[in-house]
Amino acid sequence: MITPIALGPHIDYQYGESGRNYPYGASISVHDGSDIVLLDASLGATRPTADLLLLSHYHEDHVVSASTAAADIAVHELDLPAVQSWAGYMKHVGLDPGEWESALQSDFHWSPLPHATAFGSDAVFDVGARTRIRVIPLPGHTPGHCGFLVEPDDVLYLADVDLSSFGPFYGDRSSSLKDTRASLARCAAIEARVYLTFHHKGPYTVRSEFLAALADYIAVLDQRADRVIDLLGKGPRSAANLVGHGVIYRPGRRPGFADEMEARMCQLHLDDLVDRGQALKADGDLYELA
Ligand SMILES: [Zn+2]
Ligand SMILES: [Zn+2]
Repeated sequence: MITPIALGPHIDYQYGESGRNYPYGASISVHDGSDIVLLDASLGATRPTADLLLLSHYHEDHVVSASTAAADIAVHELDLPAVQSWAGYMKHVGLDPGEWESALQSDFHWSPLPHATAFGSDAVFDVGARTRIRVIPLPGHTPGHCGFLVEPDDVLYLADVDLSSFGPFYGDRSSSLKDTRASLARCAAIEARVYLTFHHKGPYTVRSEFLAALADYIAVLDQRADRVIDLLGKGPRSAANLVGHGVIYRPGRRPGFADEMEARMCQLHLDDLVDRGQALKADGDLYELA
């Protein structure tokens, strides 16, 4: 087990030997005196028993064994229904009930959190006498997806703005491409001493390196849009017809549910291209170049 890594006097993160790529991730603890607040609960990491668990969003890889992690659990109000019940989770993620429920229970120790409470976009949490956790709303990935700014350590935790080479994920029924773009622009505008993500990259302590990684991550959105335009150039297509052509997932690297998720993400790109005047709706669910 990897020992906790300090990012400041009041914040450590840790993860297990399997690393931080999905389904694994970091567990972050913010501490001041005897007060401990956890930011997300990941698979494979040990973690201290906390007073409060703040969730960046509802996804299964961030709520591992959450019911036993802390006395109190809170999540942004827009993601609350998705942690309180299985029906709420399925509604947000947009999958049909099926094997996924038992996989979530066995792989992520998922269980509903009916006692979880909601916080708003302006919430600030005090930890001990000197430390604060400021909510930074970063919607798009999920409606209630948030980062957290830990003060005075000046550490910005970006959760699933993970800066991976895959790029941003917005394949849930409740995801938004428009909000994703706005949130990524917001990330670039916040200055901090350290930038940490849940998966993959960082922490970054040099702002220019963080901004370069963020720019590459944002550029993936345009690369995906360009691939959609290329495919529409060969004739009208629906979102379903775009699946399997490398818009989102590279050939040979398709996780479970990839088709459904890719169709949804392609649909958001089609809508976006229509908004930008680059594509038009044709017959039925087909789109063509403007
Ligand atoms: Zn996520
Ligand atoms: Zn995640």
